[in-house]
Amino acid sequence: MTKDWNLSAAPESTSHIQLQSEYGLFIGGKWIKPSDGSYFDTSNPATEKRIASIALAGKKDVDAAFKAADHAFDGWSSLSGAERGKYIFRIARIIQEKSREFAVIESMDGGKPIRESRDIDIPLAAAHFFYYAGWADKLDYVFPGRKMRPLGVAAQIIPWNFPLLMAAWKIAPALACGNTVVLKPAETTSLTALKLAEVIDEAGLPPGVVNIITGDGATGALMTAHPTPKKLAFTGSTEVGKQIYKAAIQGGKKVTLELGGKAANIIFDDAPIDAAVEGIINGIYFNQGHVCCAGSRLFVQETVYDEVLAKLKRRMDSLIVGDPMDKNTDIGAINSKAQLKTIERYLKLGSEEGAEIYQPACNLPEKGYWCKPTLFTNVAQSNRIAQEEIFGPVLAIQTFRTIEEVIEKANNTPYGLSAGVWTDKGSKIFQLTKELKAGVVWANTYNKFDPTSPFGGFKESGFGREGGIHGLEAYLSFD
Ligand code: NAP
Ligand code: MG
Repeated sequence: MTKDWNLSAAPESTSHIQLQSEYGLFIGGKWIKPSDGSYFDTSNPATEKRIASIALAGKKDVDAAFKAADHAFDGWSSLSGAERGKYIFRIARIIQEKSREFAVIESMDGGKPIRESRDIDIPLAAAHFFYYAGWADKLDYVFPGRKMRPLGVAAQIIPWNFPLLMAAWKIAPALACGNTVVLKPAETTSLTALKLAEVIDEAGLPPGVVNIITGDGATGALMTAHPTPKKLAFTGSTEVGKQIYKAAIQGGKKVTLELGGKAANIIFDDAPIDAAVEGIINGIYFNQGHVCCAGSRLFVQETVYDEVLAKLKRRMDSLIVGDPMDKNTDIGAINSKAQLKTIERYLKLGSEEGAEIYQPACNLPEKGYWCKPTLFTNVAQSNRIAQEEIFGPVLAIQTFRTIEEVIEKANNTPYGLSAGVWTDKGSKIFQLTKELKAGVVWANTYNKFDPTSPFGGFKESGFGREGGIHGLEAYLSFD
């Protein structure tokens, strides 16, 4: 049954979008009901209203998906790269055509501001498919003189913070290299992955090349324990990442893990302060802070601390928190009730640890899950709010005097995904990019993504790279 969603209340989305009230599993090019008839609901975190029922894949369904992917592998991997590229280009173009619909669904299902889904998530997802479509027939030039093969079937598990984009990061390079795929989106944000299945169908990919199955953590665990996949690709929490790593070792599978982070955003006194303040805001409040590479630890050089803090608070006062569908919204809804609880626990903990909290006085909607943009000052390096990933709009501020001191503090965390540096001096940027243990270091900008650029972490942030030509290597084996 197809339902029309008239989103006339939303300035950015007056057109109709097509959503089913019930979604099955996309296996072997067909929509299939879950074998034991189990479904779960997905809801809109800004209204708490149910949007659709989603199939909960059990063991039989997981088996069927891997069987379909395995069956499709020989045909897909023996196509020429140019042929595979054509299919991937088609997916990219259809996403572009449907970008408005994708943006609305992404914001409805996950709570992110429509401005971000429209301008960042969806265009970047299409860009990843375009980028890897271009590599499909050029693998010999990427790895000259090396004999390479696709790995086989890949099991891919993604989180809820960038649902369509993470699906694109995983599916595009896998297909370009000749692998077939079983992908599971996160429970709270399955809808755009299911829409992507419709796109894949429309693009005419051979049945079974991409299978999208929905479910919960137990479905994910069944996927990682399954004997068929030769590759496990995971983005999510460090805790689940560790379990997946174990399953990969036991099963002799190749694995890439993109896990959590606690990035340092470092402001030197020679930085252009106004631009840096914008960078701090973007670094931590983009996507409600549900960003693994969020600049959640701010280090300000002591000499400009008062100026930065005053400007930062003034800028926070101007942020609009509320309806994700309103194109003026800066901070949308927290993705789920459970995540809001986690964030609130850290807000309480920060105050108990002796840090000082600041939140602008803004009104929050009555229904839905919301958190005001928050900062903590008077934070000690050992405080849990400075060490643990909160995954919400919460910034912990510390000061420093020298470059050596800030490098030591910035590296003093179990994570190593990303960092930011704001300074007028190229020499400081070079020293920091060398000495910070972080997979990505942004200089005088933050949270900039591009399909040509590899992304991934060190230490408990995981290993392996996605994006760029590094992202191809993760889906090939070399003789
Ligand atoms: P999560 O709980 O680890 O879930 C990630 C995915 O794994 C979801 O699809 C989840 O399914 C599934 N899953 C849960 N338990 C599983 C198990 N035992 N075996 C296999 N799969 C399982 O993380 P999340 O709460 O969705 O996402 C937030 C975390 O992701 C943060 O820590 C963040 O830093 C990290 N993250 C990292 C990156 C990066 O690139 N490094 C990017 C985005 C997010 P359900 O949804 O059904 O539970
Ligand atoms: Mg939802």
